[in-house]
Amino acid sequence: MRAYVLSTGDELIRGRTLDTNTSEIARALAAEGVTVIGASLVGDDEADLVAAIRRAAGEADVVILSGGLGPTEDDCTRRAVAAAVGVPLERVPEIADALRQRFAARGMTMAPSNLLQADRPVGAETLPNRFGTAPGFAMSLGNATLFALPGPPHEMRGVLTEELLPRLRRLLPAERRVVRTRALETFGEREATIGEKIRDLMARGRQPRVGTTAGRGVIRVIVHAEGSETEVEAALAKEEAEIRRRLGASVYGVDGETLPEVVGRMLLARGMTLAVAESCTGGLIGASMTEVAGISSVFLGGVIAYANAVKIRELGVDAATLDRVGAVSEEVARAMASGVRAKFGSDVGIGITGVAGPDGGSPEKPVGTVHVALDVRGTVTHRRLSLPGDRALVREIAAKCALDLVRRTIG
Ligand code: ATP
Ligand code: MG
Repeated sequence: MRAYVLSTGDELIRGRTLDTNTSEIARALAAEGVTVIGASLVGDDEADLVAAIRRAAGEADVVILSGGLGPTEDDCTRRAVAAAVGVPLERVPEIADALRQRFAARGMTMAPSNLLQADRPVGAETLPNRFGTAPGFAMSLGNATLFALPGPPHEMRGVLTEELLPRLRRLLPAERRVVRTRALETFGEREATIGEKIRDLMARGRQPRVGTTAGRGVIRVIVHAEGSETEVEAALAKEEAEIRRRLGASVYGVDGETLPEVVGRMLLARGMTLAVAESCTGGLIGASMTEVAGISSVFLGGVIAYANAVKIRELGVDAATLDRVGAVSEEVARAMASGVRAKFGSDVGIGITGVAGPDGGSPEKPVGTVHVALDVRGTVTHRRLSLPGDRALVREIAAKCALDLVRRTIG
Protein backbone atom coordinates (compact mmCIF):
# COMPACT_ATOMS: atom_id res chain seq x y z
CA MET A 1 0.00 0.00 0.00
CA ARG A 2 1.20 3.49 -0.94
CA ALA A 3 0.41 6.58 1.10
CA TYR A 4 0.73 10.35 0.65
CA VAL A 5 0.77 12.79 3.58
CA LEU A 6 -0.54 16.37 3.26
CA SER A 7 -0.15 18.86 6.11
CA THR A 8 -2.03 22.12 5.79
CA GLY A 9 -1.73 25.55 7.32
CA ASP A 10 -0.24 28.94 6.43
CA GLU A 11 1.81 28.82 9.64
CA LEU A 12 3.55 25.67 8.32
CA ILE A 13 4.47 27.00 4.87
CA ARG A 14 5.63 30.30 6.38
CA GLY A 15 7.93 28.40 8.71
CA ARG A 16 6.35 29.72 11.89
CA THR A 17 5.23 26.29 13.09
CA LEU A 18 7.44 23.24 12.64
CA ASP A 19 5.55 20.47 10.87
CA THR A 20 5.81 17.56 13.30
CA ASN A 21 2.57 15.89 12.14
CA THR A 22 4.07 14.61 8.87
CA SER A 23 6.93 12.77 10.55
CA GLU A 24 4.64 11.30 13.20
CA ILE A 25 2.16 10.09 10.59
CA ALA A 26 4.99 8.73 8.42
CA ARG A 27 6.43 6.77 11.36
CA ALA A 28 3.03 5.28 12.21
CA LEU A 29 2.48 4.27 8.56
CA ALA A 30 5.95 2.74 8.25
CA ALA A 31 5.23 0.69 11.38
CA GLU A 32 2.19 -0.76 9.58
CA GLY A 33 4.26 -1.66 6.56
CA VAL A 34 2.71 1.13 4.44
CA THR A 35 5.05 2.85 1.95
CA VAL A 36 4.96 6.64 2.15
CA ILE A 37 5.60 7.84 -1.42
CA GLY A 38 5.57 11.54 -0.64
CA ALA A 39 4.49 14.36 1.62
CA SER A 40 3.82 18.07 1.13
CA LEU A 41 2.82 21.21 2.92
CA VAL A 42 -0.10 23.25 1.59
CA GLY A 43 -1.24 26.68 2.79
CA ASP A 44 -4.77 27.61 3.83
CA ASP A 45 -5.90 27.98 0.25
CA GLU A 46 -8.85 25.96 -0.96
CA ALA A 47 -7.84 25.78 -4.65
CA ASP A 48 -4.27 24.72 -3.77
CA LEU A 49 -5.58 22.09 -1.42
CA VAL A 50 -8.07 20.71 -3.97
CA ALA A 51 -5.24 20.36 -6.51
CA ALA A 52 -2.93 18.72 -3.96
CA ILE A 53 -5.62 16.25 -2.85
CA ARG A 54 -6.42 15.24 -6.45
CA ARG A 55 -2.74 14.81 -7.29
CA ALA A 56 -2.06 12.74 -4.16
CA ALA A 57 -5.16 10.57 -4.67
CA GLY A 58 -4.02 9.85 -8.23
CA GLU A 59 -0.66 8.53 -7.01
CA ALA A 60 -1.40 6.88 -3.68
CA ASP A 61 -3.88 4.38 -2.22
CA VAL A 62 -4.24 6.40 0.97
CA VAL A 63 -4.02 10.16 1.47
CA ILE A 64 -3.71 11.50 4.99
CA LEU A 65 -4.40 15.18 5.65
CA SER A 66 -3.86 17.06 8.88
CA GLY A 67 -5.05 20.52 9.87
CA GLY A 68 -7.67 22.94 8.65
CA LEU A 69 -10.63 21.39 10.47
CA GLY A 70 -11.14 24.30 12.85
CA PRO A 71 -14.13 26.69 12.91
CA THR A 72 -12.51 29.68 11.20
CA GLU A 73 -12.65 30.85 7.58
CA ASP A 74 -9.04 29.79 6.92
CA ASP A 75 -9.87 26.20 7.86
CA CYS A 76 -10.77 24.87 4.44
CA THR A 77 -10.05 21.12 4.53
CA ARG A 78 -13.74 20.12 4.67
CA ARG A 79 -14.60 22.33 1.67
CA ALA A 80 -11.49 21.27 -0.27
CA VAL A 81 -12.13 17.54 0.15
CA ALA A 82 -15.79 17.99 -0.84
CA ALA A 83 -14.70 19.92 -3.95
CA ALA A 84 -12.00 17.40 -4.85
CA VAL A 85 -14.48 14.53 -4.61
CA GLY A 86 -17.28 16.55 -6.22
CA VAL A 87 -19.87 16.35 -3.42
CA PRO A 88 -21.54 19.05 -1.27
CA LEU A 89 -21.12 19.51 2.48
CA GLU A 90 -23.90 18.44 4.84
CA ARG A 91 -24.43 19.42 8.45
CA VAL A 92 -24.40 16.31 10.67
CA PRO A 93 -26.82 16.65 13.62
CA GLU A 94 -24.91 14.12 15.81
CA ILE A 95 -21.67 16.11 15.47
CA ALA A 96 -23.53 19.38 16.21
CA ASP A 97 -25.06 17.82 19.35
CA ALA A 98 -21.68 16.49 20.49
CA LEU A 99 -20.17 19.98 20.03
CA ARG A 100 -22.98 21.62 22.06
CA GLN A 101 -22.53 19.08 24.83
CA ARG A 102 -18.78 19.56 24.88
CA PHE A 103 -19.17 23.30 25.39
CA ALA A 104 -21.99 22.90 27.93
CA ALA A 105 -19.91 20.47 29.99
CA ARG A 106 -17.37 23.27 30.46
CA GLY A 107 -19.97 25.88 31.22
CA MET A 108 -19.23 27.71 27.96
CA THR A 109 -21.56 28.88 25.23
CA MET A 110 -20.67 27.84 21.73
CA ALA A 111 -19.90 30.44 19.08
CA PRO A 112 -22.15 29.93 16.01
CA SER A 113 -19.05 29.45 13.82
CA ASN A 114 -18.21 26.31 15.80
CA LEU A 115 -21.12 24.64 14.03
CA LEU A 116 -19.00 24.66 10.84
CA GLN A 117 -17.16 21.78 12.48
CA ALA A 118 -20.37 19.73 12.20
CA ASP A 119 -20.16 19.93 8.40
CA ARG A 120 -18.95 16.89 6.51
CA PRO A 121 -18.61 16.03 2.81
CA VAL A 122 -21.58 13.86 1.77
CA GLY A 123 -20.48 10.22 1.88
CA ALA A 124 -17.74 10.72 4.47
CA GLU A 125 -17.43 8.72 7.69
CA THR A 126 -16.72 10.65 10.90
CA LEU A 127 -13.54 9.92 12.87
CA PRO A 128 -14.53 10.91 16.42
CA ASN A 129 -12.11 13.21 18.26
CA ARG A 130 -12.32 13.04 22.06
CA PHE A 131 -9.21 15.24 22.34
CA GLY A 132 -10.72 18.40 20.84
CA THR A 133 -13.72 19.88 19.07
CA ALA A 134 -13.08 19.06 15.40
CA PRO A 135 -13.71 15.45 14.42
CA GLY A 136 -11.82 13.99 11.47
CA PHE A 137 -13.37 12.09 8.60
CA ALA A 138 -12.64 9.40 6.02
CA MET A 139 -13.93 9.06 2.46
CA SER A 140 -13.14 7.63 -0.96
CA LEU A 141 -11.82 9.54 -3.95
CA GLY A 142 -11.53 7.25 -6.97
CA ASN A 143 -9.54 4.24 -5.82
CA ALA A 144 -7.93 6.13 -2.96
CA THR A 145 -9.09 6.54 0.64
CA LEU A 146 -8.75 10.02 2.15
CA PHE A 147 -8.37 10.56 5.89
CA ALA A 148 -8.62 14.09 7.35
CA LEU A 149 -7.18 14.60 10.84
CA PRO A 150 -7.24 17.68 13.12
CA GLY A 151 -4.06 19.80 13.14
CA PRO A 152 -3.13 20.22 16.82
CA PRO A 153 -0.50 17.48 17.35
CA HIS A 154 -2.10 15.84 20.40
CA GLU A 155 -5.49 15.71 18.65
CA MET A 156 -3.89 14.42 15.43
CA ARG A 157 -2.09 11.69 17.43
CA GLY A 158 -5.22 10.67 19.31
CA VAL A 159 -7.46 10.37 16.23
CA LEU A 160 -4.66 8.68 14.26
CA THR A 161 -4.17 6.00 16.92
CA GLU A 162 -7.77 5.43 17.92
CA GLU A 163 -9.66 5.87 14.65
CA LEU A 164 -7.42 5.96 11.58
CA LEU A 165 -4.98 3.10 12.20
CA PRO A 166 -7.69 0.51 13.04
CA ARG A 167 -9.50 1.40 9.77
CA LEU A 168 -6.26 1.37 7.80
CA ARG A 169 -5.39 -2.10 9.12
CA ARG A 170 -8.67 -3.40 7.75
CA LEU A 171 -7.60 -2.19 4.29
CA LEU A 172 -4.25 -3.96 4.51
CA PRO A 173 -3.54 -7.59 3.56
CA ALA A 174 -3.55 -9.86 6.65
CA GLU A 175 -0.02 -11.21 6.27
CA ARG A 176 1.68 -7.94 5.39
CA ARG A 177 5.18 -6.92 6.41
CA VAL A 178 5.34 -4.60 9.37
CA VAL A 179 8.17 -2.83 11.18
CA ARG A 180 8.10 -2.64 14.96
CA THR A 181 10.60 -1.30 17.45
CA ARG A 182 11.21 -1.90 21.11
CA ALA A 183 13.40 0.36 23.20
CA LEU A 184 15.11 -0.92 26.34
CA GLU A 185 15.99 1.96 28.67
CA THR A 186 19.19 1.52 30.63
CA PHE A 187 20.97 3.54 33.29
CA GLY A 188 24.23 3.14 35.14
CA GLU A 189 26.46 1.67 32.49
CA ARG A 190 28.46 3.48 29.77
CA GLU A 191 27.41 3.26 26.14
CA ALA A 192 30.75 1.65 25.24
CA THR A 193 30.32 -1.07 27.89
CA ILE A 194 26.80 -1.78 26.70
CA GLY A 195 28.07 -1.82 23.12
CA GLU A 196 30.64 -4.46 24.02
CA LYS A 197 28.10 -6.66 25.76
CA ILE A 198 25.75 -6.71 22.77
CA ARG A 199 28.33 -6.20 20.01
CA ASP A 200 27.31 -9.33 18.04
CA LEU A 201 23.62 -8.36 18.23
CA MET A 202 24.47 -4.97 16.70
CA ALA A 203 26.32 -6.48 13.71
CA ARG A 204 25.41 -4.89 10.38
CA GLY A 205 22.99 -6.83 8.22
CA ARG A 206 21.63 -8.83 11.13
CA GLN A 207 17.84 -9.15 11.72
CA PRO A 208 16.40 -7.79 13.93
CA ARG A 209 18.51 -4.64 13.84
CA VAL A 210 19.86 -3.43 17.18
CA GLY A 211 21.29 0.03 17.86
CA THR A 212 21.95 2.35 20.78
CA THR A 213 21.33 6.03 21.43
CA ALA A 214 22.55 7.96 24.44
CA GLY A 215 21.23 11.13 26.01
CA ARG A 216 21.45 12.71 29.47
CA GLY A 217 22.66 9.56 31.19
CA VAL A 218 20.11 7.19 29.70
CA ILE A 219 21.40 4.68 27.14
CA ARG A 220 18.60 3.30 25.00
CA VAL A 221 18.97 0.01 23.15
CA ILE A 222 16.54 -0.06 20.21
CA VAL A 223 15.47 -3.21 18.42
CA HIS A 224 13.87 -2.92 14.94
CA ALA A 225 12.17 -6.02 13.60
CA GLU A 226 10.62 -6.49 10.15
CA GLY A 227 8.35 -9.23 8.92
CA SER A 228 4.82 -10.48 9.41
CA GLU A 229 3.00 -9.41 12.57
CA THR A 230 3.64 -12.75 14.29
CA GLU A 231 7.27 -12.97 13.19
CA VAL A 232 7.93 -9.47 14.44
CA GLU A 233 6.35 -10.00 17.85
CA ALA A 234 8.33 -13.21 18.33
CA ALA A 235 11.60 -11.60 17.18
CA LEU A 236 11.17 -8.60 19.52
CA ALA A 237 10.37 -10.79 22.52
CA LYS A 238 13.36 -13.07 21.87
CA GLU A 239 15.76 -10.16 21.33
CA GLU A 240 14.49 -8.32 24.41
CA ALA A 241 15.05 -11.41 26.56
CA GLU A 242 18.60 -11.81 25.25
CA ILE A 243 19.48 -8.15 25.79
CA ARG A 244 18.03 -8.22 29.31
CA ARG A 245 20.06 -11.36 30.07
CA ARG A 246 23.27 -9.62 29.00
CA LEU A 247 22.65 -6.19 30.52
CA GLY A 248 20.97 -7.37 33.72
CA ALA A 249 19.87 -4.70 36.18
CA SER A 250 21.01 -1.84 33.93
CA VAL A 251 17.73 -2.21 32.02
CA TYR A 252 15.16 -0.26 34.00
CA GLY A 253 12.27 0.06 31.55
CA VAL A 254 10.90 -0.11 28.01
CA ASP A 255 9.68 2.29 25.32
CA GLY A 256 10.39 5.65 26.92
CA GLU A 257 9.68 4.82 30.55
CA THR A 258 11.49 7.15 32.95
CA LEU A 259 13.33 6.41 36.19
CA PRO A 260 10.77 8.32 38.32
CA GLU A 261 7.93 6.29 36.77
CA VAL A 262 9.70 3.01 37.40
CA VAL A 263 10.77 3.95 40.94
CA GLY A 264 7.26 5.20 41.70
CA ARG A 265 5.78 1.91 40.53
CA MET A 266 8.26 -0.14 42.56
CA LEU A 267 7.55 1.85 45.72
CA LEU A 268 3.82 1.45 45.14
CA ALA A 269 4.13 -2.31 44.64
CA ARG A 270 6.10 -2.62 47.88
CA GLY A 271 3.90 -0.25 49.86
CA MET A 272 6.88 2.04 50.57
CA THR A 273 7.10 5.82 50.78
CA LEU A 274 9.94 8.17 49.80
CA ALA A 275 11.23 11.51 51.08
CA VAL A 276 14.21 13.45 49.73
CA ALA A 277 16.87 15.76 51.17
CA GLU A 278 18.48 17.62 48.30
CA SER A 279 21.45 19.95 48.31
CA CYS A 280 23.23 20.08 44.91
CA THR A 281 20.14 18.92 42.98
CA GLY A 282 18.01 21.68 44.54
CA GLY A 283 14.68 19.86 44.18
CA LEU A 284 15.26 18.08 40.85
CA ILE A 285 14.53 14.68 42.39
CA GLY A 286 11.28 15.95 43.88
CA ALA A 287 10.36 17.70 40.62
CA SER A 288 10.98 14.57 38.57
CA MET A 289 8.98 12.37 40.97
CA THR A 290 6.05 14.79 40.87
CA GLU A 291 6.03 14.68 37.05
CA VAL A 292 4.52 11.21 37.49
CA ALA A 293 0.74 11.37 37.85
CA GLY A 294 -0.75 9.63 40.88
CA ILE A 295 2.51 9.58 42.82
CA SER A 296 1.23 11.19 46.05
CA SER A 297 0.73 7.86 47.81
CA VAL A 298 4.46 7.07 47.58
CA PHE A 299 6.28 10.39 47.28
CA LEU A 300 5.79 12.39 50.48
CA GLY A 301 8.00 15.43 49.85
CA GLY A 302 11.40 16.72 50.78
CA VAL A 303 13.73 19.43 52.02
CA ILE A 304 15.91 21.54 49.76
CA ALA A 305 18.81 21.82 52.19
CA TYR A 306 21.22 24.04 50.29
CA ALA A 307 22.65 26.05 53.18
CA ASN A 308 24.49 24.25 55.97
CA ALA A 309 22.22 25.93 58.52
CA VAL A 310 19.22 24.22 56.87
CA LYS A 311 20.99 20.86 56.86
CA ILE A 312 21.50 21.29 60.60
CA ARG A 313 18.13 22.77 61.54
CA GLU A 314 15.79 20.80 59.28
CA LEU A 315 17.61 17.48 58.93
CA GLY A 316 19.54 17.20 62.18
CA VAL A 317 22.95 17.05 60.48
CA ASP A 318 25.63 17.47 63.13
CA ALA A 319 27.32 20.90 62.97
CA ALA A 320 30.63 19.45 64.13
CA THR A 321 30.53 16.85 61.33
CA LEU A 322 29.92 19.60 58.77
CA ASP A 323 32.92 21.51 60.14
CA ARG A 324 35.13 18.44 60.14
CA VAL A 325 34.36 16.82 56.76
CA GLY A 326 32.47 19.53 54.87
CA ALA A 327 29.01 19.51 53.31
CA VAL A 328 30.08 17.37 50.34
CA SER A 329 30.89 14.17 52.17
CA GLU A 330 29.67 10.66 52.80
CA GLU A 331 28.83 11.45 56.45
CA VAL A 332 26.65 14.42 55.56
CA ALA A 333 24.83 12.54 52.76
CA ARG A 334 24.09 9.69 55.17
CA ALA A 335 22.89 12.10 57.88
CA MET A 336 20.65 13.89 55.35
CA ALA A 337 19.08 10.61 54.19
CA SER A 338 18.34 9.44 57.73
CA GLY A 339 17.32 12.93 58.83
CA VAL A 340 14.71 13.37 56.12
CA ARG A 341 13.42 9.85 56.62
CA ALA A 342 12.86 10.56 60.32
CA LYS A 343 11.34 13.98 59.65
CA PHE A 344 8.80 12.66 57.11
CA GLY A 345 8.28 9.20 58.59
CA SER A 346 8.99 7.59 55.21
CA ASP A 347 10.32 4.11 54.46
CA VAL A 348 13.05 5.47 52.19
CA GLY A 349 15.11 8.64 52.53
CA ILE A 350 17.50 10.06 49.93
CA GLY A 351 20.32 12.41 50.90
CA ILE A 352 22.30 14.07 48.12
CA THR A 353 25.12 16.61 48.29
CA GLY A 354 27.80 17.49 45.77
CA VAL A 355 29.84 20.01 43.80
CA ALA A 356 27.87 20.88 40.64
CA GLY A 357 30.39 23.52 39.46
CA PRO A 358 31.59 25.44 37.65
CA ASP A 359 33.26 26.78 40.85
CA GLY A 360 33.67 25.24 44.25
CA GLY A 361 35.83 22.28 43.25
CA SER A 362 39.05 21.32 45.04
CA PRO A 363 41.71 18.63 44.46
CA GLU A 364 39.99 16.29 46.94
CA LYS A 365 36.47 17.20 45.80
CA PRO A 366 36.61 18.18 42.13
CA VAL A 367 33.55 19.50 40.28
CA GLY A 368 31.23 16.56 39.68
CA THR A 369 31.85 14.94 43.07
CA VAL A 370 28.47 13.90 44.44
CA HIS A 371 27.59 11.83 47.51
CA VAL A 372 24.27 10.00 47.46
CA ALA A 373 22.98 8.10 50.47
CA LEU A 374 19.89 6.00 50.86
CA ASP A 375 18.23 5.08 54.13
CA VAL A 376 15.85 2.17 53.59
CA ARG A 377 14.09 1.43 56.87
CA GLY A 378 17.25 2.08 58.85
CA THR A 379 19.81 0.48 56.54
CA VAL A 380 21.96 3.18 55.01
CA THR A 381 23.95 2.75 51.80
CA HIS A 382 26.13 5.30 50.04
CA ARG A 383 27.74 6.01 46.65
CA ARG A 384 30.40 8.53 45.73
CA LEU A 385 29.95 9.68 42.15
CA SER A 386 32.35 11.52 39.82
CA LEU A 387 30.09 13.01 37.16
CA PRO A 388 31.21 14.66 33.93
CA GLY A 389 29.58 17.64 32.26
CA ASP A 390 28.48 21.16 33.05
CA ARG A 391 26.47 22.26 36.07
CA ALA A 392 23.10 21.40 34.52
CA LEU A 393 24.21 17.94 33.46
CA VAL A 394 25.90 17.14 36.79
CA ARG A 395 22.71 18.05 38.64
CA GLU A 396 20.47 16.10 36.26
CA ILE A 397 22.61 12.96 36.26
CA ALA A 398 23.03 13.17 40.05
CA ALA A 399 19.25 13.18 40.47
CA LYS A 400 18.91 10.20 38.14
CA CYS A 401 21.71 8.33 39.96
CA ALA A 402 19.85 8.78 43.25
CA LEU A 403 16.66 7.30 41.79
CA ASP A 404 18.65 4.52 40.14
CA LEU A 405 20.13 3.68 43.54
CA VAL A 406 16.62 3.43 44.99
CA ARG A 407 15.61 1.14 42.12
CA ARG A 408 18.61 -1.16 42.52
CA THR A 409 18.36 -1.22 46.32
CA ILE A 410 14.66 -2.00 46.77
CA GLY A 411 14.34 -4.01 43.50
P1 ATP B 1 -8.30 24.01 15.32
O1 ATP B 1 -9.67 23.60 15.72
O2 ATP B 1 -7.37 24.13 16.48
O3 ATP B 1 -8.26 25.21 14.39
P2 ATP B 1 -7.43 22.55 12.99
O4 ATP B 1 -7.72 21.13 12.63
O5 ATP B 1 -8.03 23.60 12.14
O6 ATP B 1 -7.76 22.73 14.50
P3 ATP B 1 -5.06 23.93 12.44
O7 ATP B 1 -5.79 25.20 12.60
O8 ATP B 1 -4.54 23.58 11.11
O9 ATP B 1 -5.90 22.70 12.95
O10 ATP B 1 -3.87 23.85 13.47
C1 ATP B 1 -4.07 24.11 14.84
C2 ATP B 1 -2.72 24.20 15.50
O11 ATP B 1 -2.11 22.93 15.45
C3 ATP B 1 -1.76 25.11 14.77
O12 ATP B 1 -1.73 26.39 15.32
C4 ATP B 1 -0.42 24.46 14.99
O13 ATP B 1 0.17 24.95 16.18
C5 ATP B 1 -0.75 23.03 15.17
N1 ATP B 1 -0.44 22.29 13.94
C6 ATP B 1 -1.22 22.19 12.84
N2 ATP B 1 -0.64 21.43 11.92
C7 ATP B 1 0.55 21.02 12.42
C8 ATP B 1 1.61 20.22 11.95
N3 ATP B 1 1.58 19.66 10.73
N4 ATP B 1 2.68 20.01 12.73
C9 ATP B 1 2.73 20.58 13.95
N5 ATP B 1 1.76 21.36 14.47
C10 ATP B 1 0.68 21.58 13.72
MG1 MG C 1 -7.49 25.97 12.59
